[in-house]
Amino acid sequence: MRFLLVGEERGFILATAPPTIQLEDGPAPVASEPKRRSRRRKTAHLKLVPETRELRNSMRAKCAVITAKLDKSLPLSKDDMERIARGLLDELGMAEGYVGWTMVVLASEFYRDQIAAIPPERRLFLLPHCLKHAEGCPADYDEFGLACKECGACSIADFRGIADEMGYKVLVAEGSPIVLKIIVSGYVDAIVGVACLNVLEKAIDKLLLAGIPCMAVPLLSSDCRNTSVDEDWVSEMVSLQQAEAAPQTRSYVHLMRAASQMFEPDELDRLAPRARGGKRLAEVNGQGVARLDPLAGTEAIVYDFLAKGGKHSRPFITLAVYDALTGGKGTQPDGAEHIAAFPDAIRRAAMSIETFHKASLVHDDIEDDDAFRYGEETIHRKYGVPTAINVGDYMIGLGYRLVSRETKELGSDVVAGILNNLAEAHMKLSEGQGCELLWRDAKDKRLKPLDALKIYALKTSPAFEAALYSGVRAAGPADDYVEPIRLFARNMGVAFQILNDLKDWQGDSDNKMSVGCDTLGGRPTLLWALALEGLPDAEREELLSLVSDEAASADYRVTRVHQLYEQADVFEQAHRLVDKHQQRAESIADEIEPEELRRLFYYLIDTVLERPTEPTPLEVLSQPVTQLSVGSM
Ligand code: SF4
Repeated sequence: MRFLLVGEERGFILATAPPTIQLEDGPAPVASEPKRRSRRRKTAHLKLVPETRELRNSMRAKCAVITAKLDKSLPLSKDDMERIARGLLDELGMAEGYVGWTMVVLASEFYRDQIAAIPPERRLFLLPHCLKHAEGCPADYDEFGLACKECGACSIADFRGIADEMGYKVLVAEGSPIVLKIIVSGYVDAIVGVACLNVLEKAIDKLLLAGIPCMAVPLLSSDCRNTSVDEDWVSEMVSLQQAEAAPQTRSYVHLMRAASQMFEPDELDRLAPRARGGKRLAEVNGQGVARLDPLAGTEAIVYDFLAKGGKHSRPFITLAVYDALTGGKGTQPDGAEHIAAFPDAIRRAAMSIETFHKASLVHDDIEDDDAFRYGEETIHRKYGVPTAINVGDYMIGLGYRLVSRETKELGSDVVAGILNNLAEAHMKLSEGQGCELLWRDAKDKRLKPLDALKIYALKTSPAFEAALYSGVRAAGPADDYVEPIRLFARNMGVAFQILNDLKDWQGDSDNKMSVGCDTLGGRPTLLWALALEGLPDAEREELLSLVSDEAASADYRVTRVHQLYEQADVFEQAHRLVDKHQQRAESIADEIEPEELRRLFYYLIDTVLERPTEPTPLEVLSQPVTQLSVGSM
């Protein structure tokens, strides 16, 4: 779960007053506001755990009373949770530092009845490996996380025992990326877990926003070693017996699964039958294209690549927009049945966006000479650059054909509209990528902030806009939506790219060279442009010379660039720009109709514009440069 920091004193806007929380009998607290404003920066100070067991118990009881009164048909938004948590803390006279912990407990109580209605074998139990006995644990790690040997030295074995007996799927691993993947894969329908508040902030956040049932017991510390937890809370959570069906919260999970399933090999072949009908790469025993009919080789590589990896967020957007404009039944508990009845033409329109995206990845990997994609060698490293260019070209053709053949189902006007939008997007993306490549290869590294923002708008927004437009146009007339979609996509795309810039300066102490890659890689970033604009002449010239100073070590250059960025205050300026573009996207979302589409826009804002949890880069970067090794200069 992500915790929001709202308040005018930080220049943020809170559009609606927090609801009053009534702990005793009285009107239910307001769970959902039609309009909202939230920004978030640092959250480290919001992760205190109530000190005594008695206090934790009493707060959990109060959270249960509050959530019992909430409308459960819609997911709790982050704003809702924070407002309610702050209201409760105010009532109890407690500090805001407990907001994060209270939000986790509120969310858990919100979903308790729904999780009870899900059979244990459809629940995933997630445990953190930091609960293990660090000094003597004999367990090893395998592909499924920590393989506990049940030595009895920590509580992991006990918890596993209860969960195994109940029929849970159990994983001892850190949660963030894997949890949503498992849910979207369709193996489980709910998550129960134990984690520190740092992990919960990242991992559970996306689940809650998507309306996926989850419960968690926060660890009592976030020390990453020999941690502890309220063990009877965990036992109670895992032992939750199957109960009568409870009213279920609307969820995007069915639409996510539908977007993903389109790229499973059989469904891919059904929706886009192969022209050559050859074997799949997986069927030729690792001998790759050498064993294929040469005429079918390109098609086989393309279909293999389309079936690999990716979050499928673009096709999700198209399907979700189409659903929102045709009644929103895909987010209901029986949403899978409604989505199954979507015309295949809608699926193919959604697939075309992903196909273009995959083509751009193959070409990007060539341009950047990246070695790996989806954990495997990139296409150009595996088959050579000429073949990879050709594979990308094939996918572009396939993407257009997925739409162009649907005139019977969608009508000529609709197909023409979608194709035109896709073609526009394609050209703008190529312009944006072209700007970046030309700048990267140029000697003159000057850049104005406005030009950096224009590049961002060209590079990221068109695909987003095309995914939205395809869903709108397939559902009906699009005239009223064209301008709002364009502006929404533009602001979202720009904000997303700026956040990427900021994340490039986050790192960890084990991998300090992972920061500042954009600078060393010669990308035209907004941070770079803001620094050039804000620095005095001497420092500006120094910054310009640093990029090409091959005599200086990478360590030194990254460190010095960071210092100059700090001097020019570019990180704070970039955060303000993200806020500004997010506010614009929210203003458009506030006005969009119908409500299902508005909720989808809010969901996209919350999930696409994920803020860096802490914008502080490596400690080493804060040291005076003279303290660092500059031996290789
Ligand atoms: S019970 Fe399992 S996880 Fe805990 S210390 Fe023993 S082997 Fe390691």
